[in-house]
Amino acid sequence: MTAKILDGRAVAAGILDRVREDVTALVAEHGRVPVLATVLVGDDPASHTYVGMKANRCAKVGIHSLRIDLDADITTSALVKQIHELSADPTVDGILLQHPVPDHIDERAAFEAIAPSKDVDGVTRTSFATMAFDEGGFTSATPGGIMALLDAHAIPLTGRHAVVVGRSPILGKPVGMLLLARDATVTYCHSRTAGLADHVSHADIVVAAAGSPELIRGDWIKPGAVVVDAGYADNRGDVEYGAAAERASYITPVPGGVGPMTIATLIAQTVEAARHHESAR
Ligand code: NAP
Repeated sequence: MTAKILDGRAVAAGILDRVREDVTALVAEHGRVPVLATVLVGDDPASHTYVGMKANRCAKVGIHSLRIDLDADITTSALVKQIHELSADPTVDGILLQHPVPDHIDERAAFEAIAPSKDVDGVTRTSFATMAFDEGGFTSATPGGIMALLDAHAIPLTGRHAVVVGRSPILGKPVGMLLLARDATVTYCHSRTAGLADHVSHADIVVAAAGSPELIRGDWIKPGAVVVDAGYADNRGDVEYGAAAERASYITPVPGGVGPMTIATLIAQTVEAARHHESAR
């Protein structure tokens, strides 16, 4: 078997086409463009690239992106203050704090400074809880993008065994919760998991979110499984792509799978936030 591609670029382009129409309608109704504030701490080259890609997509759909670059040695309290100001600014609809921040920063404190109504990247405790309780709100952008990618390819989830490798609060944990909400049976694996290969080999759906290049070997994949690779480190994904593609029914390429879906979800949620803000005025 050679896997079909879960084509994140194509699906994301379709989402962004619809978002562009939404933006046009919002501008016609309310006379202003949605604004996404992007906070970047330090000069990590990969983070600069991601923020640049996000700004580029914003421009393509007619959203204004407001970029705030902060020195790598900023304190947690100064960063929190900056984010509180954006949370209070009525001209800002969404706030993205580019992850990861330097080690000395209390990342959780910085995320929690984002007003829940502007948490378009879905990183706050409020967004996590509303997602866990299936009460609407913003989904964490990468997990939301993964679900949209699976749905766009009509991948059945009910009753299927999903194995998520990774348990971070912005990726592994929430994607498992979203799969559970869609009636998949979910197993979480992490760095202390014993027998990772065995767990993965029983999965109908594998979501790799570890940040460890080619951790998931191709011969672990059950024939016909669906493989979603969210990892990205050293220019590679978490899955041994070539060998996995020989066994899987569907697989995401890296790049061109999960990454574009993350950005599309972030941007779609920014427009949703702008709509909420206008209706609350
Ligand atoms: P993270 O916070 O570092 O979490 C990594 C998770 O993977 C942890 O739960 C860790 O387990 C687990 N893990 C690490 N090594 C492992 C191993 N050898 N075996 C099993 N589990 C292992 O990272 P993250 O923010 O969730 O991101 C994960 C990856 O996704 C990174 O490559 C990141 O670049 C990528 N990412 C991509 C997008 C996108 O849009 N495509 C967006 C966000 C992140 P412990 O909990 O036990 O430490």
